[in-house]
Amino acid sequence: MGKEGEVLSRAVIVGAGAIGLMSAYHLVEHGVSVTIVDRVPPGQACSFGNAGWITPSLANPVPEPGILGQVLTWLVQRDSPFSMRISEVLKDPGWFLGFLRASRPGPYEKGLYAQGVFSLQGMEVLSQVQAKVPFELHRDGLLYVFHTDHEYEKHLKDFEKLAALGMARPRKVEADLRDWEPGLHPDLKKALWVESDWHVRPDDMTGSLAAYLREKGVEFREGNVEGFVKTNGKVTALITSAGEIPGDAFLLAGGVWTGLLTKKLGVGLPLQGGKGYSITIWGAKLRLQRPLYFPDVRLACSPFAGGGLRLAGRMEIAGFDDRLDPRKVEALARSADQALVGWREKEEGGREMAWTGLRPLLPDGLPAIGRLPRMENVFVAAGHGMLGITLSAPTGKAVADLMVKGETDLAVAPFDPGRFH
Ligand SMILES: Cc1cc2nc3c(=O)[nH]c(=O)nc-3n(C[C@H](O)[C@H](O)[C@H](O)COP(=O)(O)OP(=O)(O)OC[C@H]3O[C@@H](n4cnc5c(N)ncnc54)[C@H](O)[C@@H]3O)c2cc1C
Repeated sequence: MGKEGEVLSRAVIVGAGAIGLMSAYHLVEHGVSVTIVDRVPPGQACSFGNAGWITPSLANPVPEPGILGQVLTWLVQRDSPFSMRISEVLKDPGWFLGFLRASRPGPYEKGLYAQGVFSLQGMEVLSQVQAKVPFELHRDGLLYVFHTDHEYEKHLKDFEKLAALGMARPRKVEADLRDWEPGLHPDLKKALWVESDWHVRPDDMTGSLAAYLREKGVEFREGNVEGFVKTNGKVTALITSAGEIPGDAFLLAGGVWTGLLTKKLGVGLPLQGGKGYSITIWGAKLRLQRPLYFPDVRLACSPFAGGGLRLAGRMEIAGFDDRLDPRKVEALARSADQALVGWREKEEGGREMAWTGLRPLLPDGLPAIGRLPRMENVFVAAGHGMLGITLSAPTGKAVADLMVKGETDLAVAPFDPGRFH
C-alpha cells in the first residue's frame, strides 16, 4: 500500500482515540472507506480526561537532560510528579536504558526540534479539521507560572531553541501577575506568557469527530483485536472478538497497547504507560482566563466552556496498570494547593470528577508514525506521550498520506517506527 499504482479503497484502524479518529478523518478526505475497531466507545481511553493542550511550546521529549537525578530526588519526595515503578524497570530494563540514552543533550535537542517542527505544522492542520468539524477550541495561549528560578531558566533555554523554528518568544510577566490570574497562589512571582498555544476540550474533539465520521459513512465496530489473518505475507484481515474484519491496509493506533499488537506480527514497539491523573471541577467558582502550567510541580490547568476547570499532571511509569489510585488524586490536589487559591470551590450543583489515563510512551519520548518494518500494508501511529492531542491532527494527516500516496509533506521522518530495529 502507498506505492505508485496501488489504490487504497478500504482501511481498517485499530483504536478510536484522538490519533485513530484524526487518521480516519484524513483517510476519508482521501476518499478511502474506513472501519474503526475499538473495545471501548470512541475517545474513552487516554484521549478522554487529559488537559487538551495544543502546545508547540512544550515540544520537549519526556527524557530530558538531568531526568535521572530528578527522578532520584523525587523518589524520596512525597507527592513527586514523576516516578517509575521498580517492577516495571526490572520487567523491561531495555526500555529504561533507552530512556536514559535519549536524555543526553544531543538526542534531547534533536527530539525537541523534531516535535517542535511537527507540532507547529499541526496548528494549520488542526484549524482545517476544526473548520469542518466544530469542537471546543480556545486560542488563549498558555501562561507558565514558576515556583523556582531553576525551571524558569530551563524553559527560557528551550524557548530560545524553539524560536529558531519560528515560534514567537514568550513575554515575561512579573509585577502584574495577579492581574493576569487573580487565583494564583501568593508565593508565585514569575511567569512567561506564550500567546501562540491553544487548547481543546478533548472529549468534545473526539466526540465531534466520531459523530462527523459516522455521518461520512465510517463504520465503528466494538471489539477486542486479538490477531491478524495473513495471506502471502500480507495482512488481509483483523481477528477480533466480534469476528474478522477484512481490509486492504491496517493502521494500529491503539495507544499504549499498540506494542502488544505489533508483537503478534513479530515487530517490537517498546511502549510503556506513563500514567497521569486529572481532577475536573464542573461548575468551578474559579474562572481562569487561560490555561496555566506550573512546571515545578508539573501541573496543568485548563478552563473549559461553561465553568469547567481541569487540573492534570503526574507521570508514573506504570506498565498497563490503569487503575485509579485515590492517593495519587489527592497528591495532585496538594500540588494544586501550592498553585491556586480556591480551586476546589464549586457553584451550587457543581461536581468533581477524578480520572486516570496511560500516556503511550516510547523510550526516546517521540511517537512512531509510518509503515511498520517488514510489513507491506500495516502502519502505526502511536507513542505520542504527553503530546497526543497536540500532535493528533498532523499525525492523522501524515499517516493517511503515507497509506494512500506513500509520501507526505509533513516532517515525520524522525518518527519512523523502524528506528527501534
Ligand atoms: C493526565 C494527562 C494529561 C495529558 N494532557 C495532554 C495535553 O494537554 N496535550 C496533549 O497533547 N496530550 C496530553 N496527554 C497525552 C494524550 O492524552 C495522549 O497522548 C493521547 O490521548 C493518546 O491518544 P491515542 O489515540 O494514541 O491513545 P488512546 O486515546 O488511549 O486510544 C487508543 C485506543 O485503542 C484501543 N485499543 C488498543 N488496543 C486495542 C485492541 N487490541 N483492540 C481494540 N481496541 C484497542 C483502546 O481501547 C483505546 O480506545 C495527557 C495525558 C494524560 C494522562
